[in-house]
Amino acid sequence: MTQADIGLIGLGVMGANLALNIAENGYKVAVFNRTAEKTKAFMENAAHLKDQFIACYSLEELVANIKAPRPIIMMVMAGDPVDQQIAALKPFLSDGDILIDAGNSAFHDSNRRYRELADTPFTFVGMGVSGGAEGARHGPSIMVGASPTAYARIEPILTAISAKHNDEPCCGLMGPEGAGHFVKTLHNGIEYADMQMIAEIHEVMSKCLGLSIPEQAGVFKKWNEGPLSSYLIEITANVMDVIDEESGKPILEVILDTAGQKGTGRWSAVEAHMLGVPATGIDAAVAARCISAGRALRQEIAKVYPQGTDKLSFADKQVGIDACEKAMIAGKIAAYAEGFDVLAAGSKEYGWKLPMGDIARVWRAGCIIRSRFLDEIASAYDQNPELSSLYLAPTIAERMKDAVPGLRDVLCKAIMSEIPTPGLSAAMGSFDMIRQARTAAYVVQGQRDFFGQHGFERTDKEGSGFHGPWPAGGA
Ligand code: NAP
Repeated sequence: MTQADIGLIGLGVMGANLALNIAENGYKVAVFNRTAEKTKAFMENAAHLKDQFIACYSLEELVANIKAPRPIIMMVMAGDPVDQQIAALKPFLSDGDILIDAGNSAFHDSNRRYRELADTPFTFVGMGVSGGAEGARHGPSIMVGASPTAYARIEPILTAISAKHNDEPCCGLMGPEGAGHFVKTLHNGIEYADMQMIAEIHEVMSKCLGLSIPEQAGVFKKWNEGPLSSYLIEITANVMDVIDEESGKPILEVILDTAGQKGTGRWSAVEAHMLGVPATGIDAAVAARCISAGRALRQEIAKVYPQGTDKLSFADKQVGIDACEKAMIAGKIAAYAEGFDVLAAGSKEYGWKLPMGDIARVWRAGCIIRSRFLDEIASAYDQNPELSSLYLAPTIAERMKDAVPGLRDVLCKAIMSEIPTPGLSAAMGSFDMIRQARTAAYVVQGQRDFFGQHGFERTDKEGSGFHGPWPAGGA
């Protein structure tokens, strides 16, 4: 039997779909799953692609069935299972073999694994994969953290299976170590912010515009033909269109209001804080999911602070819909601006030289945050790879200036109507602050010096470590 081009461990939802995708692109795949029944079931369902697979029931058998040097994808649960899998594989590997972790691993773990394997004859690759099951099967967005040599070896397979945007593969080398998983983490952070803002806009359209859910589906479909065109806008329209078979109501009316999360949004927020870069929209989205999860407490507090019935409305329906569209555009720009700021800070901190334009390009298809807007971001970074903020790119600035009044209008109406808008408010707050030539931070500096003698700089003199003439009790 001819040996496989690549191995794949973990035939769960993602692994099975990725294996089928690789096979469909003409590569032979040796597959293994910890639970043997899953491998058998996979082979039974492999249909016309069956001959492209070699089903293996031990790691030794898997390794023996792959052409050396062997690329082996691990698509198992993130965390300890990845370390366990690497340890279990090691005794069977030979020089030059490449272990590719394609799960949603924390990038700090990928940094560690990359360094640990650097002292062995094997290579570690941390690979972020986005697009869910559908993406894995028909073309995901792939963000790779690898040495250039390891990447060159696996690139033909990865570009073949990845999503394509205008025939360009949505797959790229982001840098060494955990760079691929870092970029995937921020992808998910931006995704959190975008999803939260969409949910908020829905509530504004329901309460301030009186639009039914099916009517909103129509609005989202229309938006999907314009600057907001994106996967998340498209699927929101699709979700809004669905009627629950049992109740006959729009499915959104019967879905419980507690949002789950698996950690990547939180990792983005934590990393942003560690890097000293604001990611207020991502923070707000993570916090909103946490608040949503505390349903019993919310219901108790709601009894103490009942909602008012007054709702501010717009001049007319279309004016309101247009303001909501602009608010969404401004919020989306803010989410991307913050996400790319965190990427730039991480790139500097870890010495990765992340390819900012390529990141935008890799996200243009296959992944959850794919959107028309990413073309503009890619061009902005192509024109100026050293761009210090997306807000400074001329095309983005033009869009932001046009959209901000809509965001302000929507926020005023939402706040006066008691509609929570943590995501959109965070976008507005951080944008308003970042464009202040002089912020109110002088008050904070005054307070810090008053109670802690931390010192401050002055606007009228060079130097630092000045203190105020505080009265007794102060510095
Ligand atoms: P899944 O369907 O639950 O499959 C999990 C796989 O991991 C199974 O093959 C399981 O083997 C294996 N596994 C778990 N613990 C293991 C261990 N200790 N040793 C060896 N194998 C172990 O999960 P999934 O959705 O495919 O996700 C796989 C990875 O992809 C995760 O890191 C996930 O975060 C990431 N991811 C998921 C999505 C998504 O939309 N689902 C998108 C992007 C990335 P058994 O069958 O023996 O239990």
